Amino acid sequence: MVHFVFDLDDTLIIHDKKLPMNIYVQEDLELDRLLNNCKGECYIYTNGTLYHALNIINKMNIKRNFHKVYSRDTIDFMKPDIRSFQSVHLDLKAIYKKDETIFFFDDLLENLRSAKSFGWVTFWINPNFVTGHQYNFVDYSFKDIKTCLIYLEKLNDI
Ligand SMILES: [Mg+2]
Repeated sequence: MVHFVFDLDDTLIIHDKKLPMNIYVQEDLELDRLLNNCKGECYIYTNGTLYHALNIINKMNIKRNFHKVYSRDTIDFMKPDIRSFQSVHLDLKAIYKKDETIFFFDDLLENLRSAKSFGWVTFWINPNFVTGHQYNFVDYSFKDIKTCLIYLEKLNDI
C-alpha cells in the first residue's frame, strides 16, 4: 500500500494573504473526490497546530479522507528537521509493513530533501514546478495539488 502524506499550507490549501481566511477557505468537492480516490491512506503533516489543520480540513470538507494529523503539537520537531521526519517515518512503519511506499507532497524544497533521506517518493507542489528536475531529491513536480492527484488517478486507471 502507498501512504499519502500531505503538507497542508500552500500544498493542500493556497493561502491568499490579502483575504481573511474565512473567505478563501471554502468547501472543495473536487479535492475531496481526488483524495478519496487515492489508493492508500492519507495523512496531514504540517508545521502548524493540530487546531489549525482540523479547522482548515473541516472548512474544506476534506477531513473524512485523513487517517491522522502530524502537527507541531503532536510530534517533537518541525520540518525540515530530520528528527521530525524520523518520528513520522517510524510511526508509519510501526503501523504498516516495512516495504510499503510513502508519497510526500510539499511546497518547500527543504522538506522534500529531508523526506528523500528516508526513501520517500517526493512531490513538489509549487508554481515553479518546471525547475523541479534540477533537484535530485524531487521525484515529481506539479503546479498544484489537483493537477498532481489527477495525474496519479490516471496512472491508476492504466
Ligand atoms: Mg507548506
